Amino acid sequence: MDCIFCAIANHEIPSNVAYEDEQMICFHDLEPQAPVHVLAIPKKHIESLDDVKPDDEALLGHMMGKIKEIAATLELENGYRVVSNNGEDAFQTVKHLHFHILGKRKMTWPPG
Ligand code: 5GP
Ligand code: ZN
Repeated sequence: MDCIFCAIANHEIPSNVAYEDEQMICFHDLEPQAPVHVLAIPKKHIESLDDVKPDDEALLGHMMGKIKEIAATLELENGYRVVSNNGEDAFQTVKHLHFHILGKRKMTWPPG
């Protein structure tokens, strides 16, 4: 399988890593949409939230718990946005589940 985020998770493609453990990796986005823009991904290949299985609940819970720690490390004490684009309408471009963490600027709502 040819997956760019699996390659990043396996350190086959270099990235600017903000956090890593045995289950997940978080790295800075190549095309940041905010002064701080990182992507938190499971090391396990899961295409999108649609493909999450009951067995993945602990993994996703772990990731959600780590996001606030990552945000604190990145000094996002003023707030941050977490986004996961899933499927065509949401314009998901990389088919490996990821959570964008964006901060250090005022966000607008609704999103584009
Ligand atoms: P999506 O559009 O699927 O929600 O988000 C994919 C994100 O991955 C985009 O923000 C894009 O800039 C980022 N991205 C794509 N390829 C790479 C890469 O090779 N390295 C890094 N660091 N980010 C990437
Ligand atoms: Zn993958």
